[in-house]
Amino acid sequence: MSDIIHLLPDHVANQIAAGEVVQRPASVVKELLENAIDAGATTIKLLIKDAGKTSIQVIDNGTGMSITDARLSFERHSTSKISKAEDLFQIQTKGFRGEALASIAAIAHVELRTKREENEVGTSILIEGSRFIKQEPVAMPTGTSIIVKNLFYNIPARRRFLKSDAVETRHIINELQRVALAHSGITFFMYHNDNEVYHLPESNLKKRIVNIFGKKTNEKLVPIHENTPIVSIDGFVAKPEFAKKKRGEQFFFVNNRFIKTAYLNHAVKMAFEGLISNAQHPTYFLFLEVPTHTVDINIHPTKTEVKFDNEKDLYAIIRASVKHSLGQYSVTPVLDFNRDSSMDTPYKYKNKPISSEPVIKVDRNFNPFQNKDVGSWESLYSEIKDIDIPPTEQDENRDTTDLFSSDASMSKVHTQQLHRKYIVSTIKSGMVFIHQNRAHQRILYEDFLRIMTVGEASSQQLLFPIQLQFDKPDMALLTELQGDLESSGFQFKSLTSEKIIVKGIPPKLKDIEIETIFKELIANQKDEIPNTSFSPVDYIAKVLSKNTAIKTGKTLGQKEQEELVNTLFTCKEPNVSPFGKACFTTITIEEIDKRL
Ligand code: ADP
Ligand code: MG
Repeated sequence: MSDIIHLLPDHVANQIAAGEVVQRPASVVKELLENAIDAGATTIKLLIKDAGKTSIQVIDNGTGMSITDARLSFERHSTSKISKAEDLFQIQTKGFRGEALASIAAIAHVELRTKREENEVGTSILIEGSRFIKQEPVAMPTGTSIIVKNLFYNIPARRRFLKSDAVETRHIINELQRVALAHSGITFFMYHNDNEVYHLPESNLKKRIVNIFGKKTNEKLVPIHENTPIVSIDGFVAKPEFAKKKRGEQFFFVNNRFIKTAYLNHAVKMAFEGLISNAQHPTYFLFLEVPTHTVDINIHPTKTEVKFDNEKDLYAIIRASVKHSLGQYSVTPVLDFNRDSSMDTPYKYKNKPISSEPVIKVDRNFNPFQNKDVGSWESLYSEIKDIDIPPTEQDENRDTTDLFSSDASMSKVHTQQLHRKYIVSTIKSGMVFIHQNRAHQRILYEDFLRIMTVGEASSQQLLFPIQLQFDKPDMALLTELQGDLESSGFQFKSLTSEKIIVKGIPPKLKDIEIETIFKELIANQKDEIPNTSFSPVDYIAKVLSKNTAIKTGKTLGQKEQEELVNTLFTCKEPNVSPFGKACFTTITIEEIDKRL
């Protein structure tokens, strides 16, 4: 018998590749738009007919191609973007696999027209189902136009499986939105059957979002900025009250490339924990910048799935920074203050060694009630007296120093305890009611987090070391936490799966509480959904704060009340307890007026 293995002809190989790269008209749109961006275009037009089933055209004003390059661009594995394997680890362009044009040309009728600046005339090429038909000179402006007609004309099964025009158009619009969001500096036009769908002028990100999703979006957006050596995050989330029933506007971009990631989506969702119901989906537009060597974008032909080196850290940072921004902006506009930006980074990541970047300082003495600028305070004070000023106007540029306005020395807050549960105080816009237990939990939680990550834990020595016994698997769980427990102030004479002897504990803890705490930690450790855990440090801090916080029912002296209030508002997220419950609520003068 003769040999049976032979190399597939190129046009067959291209068709097979096309099966992966081109699932529907929207896939063609994505590839063509990305090529236009890689070519440095500043204006890109997308024209589709019948949901892209009849034709898809992308016109750009980018670099264009030479006559030879135009011809080569349809060959499989032809790309100008990488030349060696190492290049894969520092990709700056959208494309690099060199298979899009070859794949598309294998399953459609394609006409390419392109001209470079330095050439008088351009070149036009016609290809049908990988077959070269003709190439000829053409007069045109610099740039490239590609028309893709009759997609899947030679794969009838594929064509039959296309969805309705409405559905396919939706997919195309989704692609355009993703690309347009990632490149707000580029002007985009989209026409469907000659009707304008989008005209998106060059702008900043916020305006681009508003141009795409409508004017009302503007007031919904909360900005996110975070800088760590592992990742920097920029973008917006929508306030919790605008969360959607349907998973809608959720955009993650990594190094300006749209990606799908259920894992990081979960991180955002967790940041909204307690603020939206489980059935709702947060809206977000988040741009992550990570060093190119820490992310692999070549794990999937359409490059929408990527693999990160340090996924868990990203999860933690994203959750913390979204949470933080929500804390600053969402709960009540009355307490919308400007925080010291040095407190913005989750503690854990502040202390990672940074070689070239400046070290971030935490200002522990930061106190939002301290008035640094007497001049501005005086003017605010006179504003407050002037009752004709509508409060909403003052709300706009509210800053921390004008929150508590009733006293001349701004660091002093007048407080009153209510039912041994709340601390009440007057604020500029009315009154604030602070839940003493939750507020203290918040303060301690952030304290523990800081102590544990900065490594400043002190510990009280027990006169009589405590011996504890749990079943074997539980003991094993605790041994996993040893490092984190020690950095929170626990000291062990022994911590093995055989026996636990505790000889030192974190300061405010009482020895009788230790067993309960360990039980809770074990329970928490068991409950954690694999791979989604924030970090053991986080829940140790939670459990410790819960057990050491001032309880409801405790009478607090004037000093203690003031201290609690003052410290609460130096927290990163003063408005929610570590368990997502509100720490305080406010009543405005208008609300009181309405009742009277
Ligand atoms: P890739 O983008 O992965 O390199 P493609 O098949 O999408 O592969 O494109 C092949 C090559 O054709 C690109 O590397 C680029 O040099 C060229 N090219 C494609 N589209 C354009 C365009 N709109 N303007 C200029 N050059 C283009
Ligand atoms: Mg490409």
